[in-house]
Amino acid sequence: MENNILKENWSKILDNLEKKISKPTLKTWFSNIEPFQFFNGILKINVPNKLVKNWLESKFHILLIKTAKEVIPELKDIEYLINDKNQIHYYQKKSVLKKISYQQKLTIFEVNPSTNLNPKYRFENFVVGSNNELAFAAAQGVVNNLGEKFNPLFIYGGVGLGKTHLLQAIGNEIIKKYGLTKKIRYATTEQFTNDLINSLKNQNIDEFRQKFRDVDVLILDDVHFLSGKNKSQEELFHTFNELYNLKKQIVFSSDRPPRIIPDIEERLQSRFEGGLVVDITPPDYETRLAILKIKNQERGYFLQENILEILAQKITKNIRELEGGLNYIAFKLSRLNNYDEEKVLNLIKEYLKQNIKKISYKKIIKIVADFYNLKEDDLFKKIRKKEVIKPRQVLIYLLREIGKFSYSSIGEILNKRDHTTILYSYEKIEKELKEDFDLFQEIEILKDRILNSN
Ligand code: ADP
Ligand code: MG
Repeated sequence: MENNILKENWSKILDNLEKKISKPTLKTWFSNIEPFQFFNGILKINVPNKLVKNWLESKFHILLIKTAKEVIPELKDIEYLINDKNQIHYYQKKSVLKKISYQQKLTIFEVNPSTNLNPKYRFENFVVGSNNELAFAAAQGVVNNLGEKFNPLFIYGGVGLGKTHLLQAIGNEIIKKYGLTKKIRYATTEQFTNDLINSLKNQNIDEFRQKFRDVDVLILDDVHFLSGKNKSQEELFHTFNELYNLKKQIVFSSDRPPRIIPDIEERLQSRFEGGLVVDITPPDYETRLAILKIKNQERGYFLQENILEILAQKITKNIRELEGGLNYIAFKLSRLNNYDEEKVLNLIKEYLKQNIKKISYKKIIKIVADFYNLKEDDLFKKIRKKEVIKPRQVLIYLLREIGKFSYSSIGEILNKRDHTTILYSYEKIEKELKEDFDLFQEIEILKDRILNSN
């Protein structure tokens, strides 16, 4: 087939494809592809790198063949050639394909509704360093001596340092060790508080009490959230006493030690301090690198160690940011033909910059509306259509994540929506992002546009 005809056919194929997959997905995976040759029923196309090749093969191959046949009926198969004239091989040469599909299975973790635990948080994938070794040892101590040794265990430390991971890992390890003989309940303090408010409203406080008191292990995350919430404090105080007297294990976390949580009852503070209080501090370089190695594997990125080293050197504040940096770099590099150390450094700078830059919400709204082909107005109206719900949730996520707006101000911006609705949307996207690579990319593209718009 002649070159110009081939090109023409390819653009027809893309047009047809556009009717079947979302625009962003199309853009992400098909924009850098050139048709190379059509011969003997085989269409060969040039793709920029191995990651794209593997994603096309694993996710789009059949769809692409079907679609291409609509334009070239005699087509039998498609081959992907890596256009890597001057590619630097930052990706390890393992079979990314196999790892990625394996990885996909691995990362779809379901939260268990009866315990509220997410099985992805385990002791085995928690890296122990000097910053968290005491907390880790205490967590193990809890599992091995339920209700006896460290009760309550109170773990505190700044954001993104691994408190939730460790708390959830305690719960998951107890399940592993004791099976269903132990009843466990994990909750964030926000959930605890919301449940309480709802149960008071619906007059079913007994149900609430059963949920939090009829357990062998209660794990309550982020108790600094109790600050100023008298009703919740009182309820927790009684919950605590009841469990404690029955020698049930209780674990708390907070972003600061009990003594300096403001607006909290003295008697509750002293309960918090009654067992063992340990802190988690920011990790050192070696620990950061070890964490990156684990996440790199878990997510199937297979970035080379030198890139992980740069990340561990440059991102030091907390582990959530470190992980975000890893995701960002993996995504960006997957779309480049070639890159060097300087490029990687620049990407990290760009990533860190987005964490501090304050951006107007109007700009974010406009970009999201454009991206999803909606009118800005649609995002504000109370429309319950699928085409609008998801973009709205993405908008909420980005207002929070990039705009750094509080939940209540996002509620204000979006036509006086309740702040729990906003929180729900944010958490929904945050969760789906980890399991849905397409969504992850849409969001990366959106972030890109927001940060690079003037
Ligand atoms: P916190 O609750 O303290 O804000 P998280 O537990 O949510 O922090 O941790 C943020 C992210 O960092 C999670 O994805 C978690 O798995 C990861 N993380 C934190 N500490 C470690 C560690 N020591 N080893 C492995 N991953 C960690
Ligand atoms: Mg947490």
